[in-house]
Amino acid sequence: MLDRVEVVQGDITQQQVEAIVNAANNSLLGGGGVDGAIHRVAGPELLEECRKLRGCPTGEAKMTRGYRLPAKWVIHTVGPVWRGGNYKEDEYLAQCYQNCFALIEKHQLKTVAFPSISTGAYRFPLERATRIAVAETVNFLKGNNFVEKIVFVCFNIRVYDCYVNELKSIQ
Ligand code: ADP
Repeated sequence: MLDRVEVVQGDITQQQVEAIVNAANNSLLGGGGVDGAIHRVAGPELLEECRKLRGCPTGEAKMTRGYRLPAKWVIHTVGPVWRGGNYKEDEYLAQCYQNCFALIEKHQLKTVAFPSISTGAYRFPLERATRIAVAETVNFLKGNNFVEKIVFVCFNIRVYDCYVNELKSIQ
């Protein structure tokens, strides 16, 4: 099952996959970090479609087209802002992955790339977020044979090392 999980260092907007996941905010109207990068590459049509979605609650996920991205689809999910750990941050982050996987299953997507949700501007501790990302992914793949590849796209070496170590530790 882990043979279907890949870790790469790079830019998620350049991934040749069917869908990429966006770490968006509640407005879905664009922002900084990975969200800004995705909107820049996808073009203004993405913002237009996002406007029609009327936002997204934390922990949920909504799908749009990818427009000028190599990826045909974008799954927008809203991670929790880290507030010390006592505000259900772990649960909300797990829900992000679960709701993305629900859409992946529903639309029969075979190849999907994820960024490290909530660990940038939203300040979720990286190792803790990585444990949740990997656990939810493994849990999903155990019950799904259709998905061919889940790629964790790490923007820097620190994030990359963290994913590699977490995957090693569960093997
Ligand atoms: P959040 O608000 O959910 O914390 P951010 O975009 O601030 O979202 O950060 C989430 C993660 O995405 C961070 O690890 C950040 O380094 C990373 N990131 C930023 N730009 C990109 C990109 N173009 N491709 C992949 N990951 C990115």
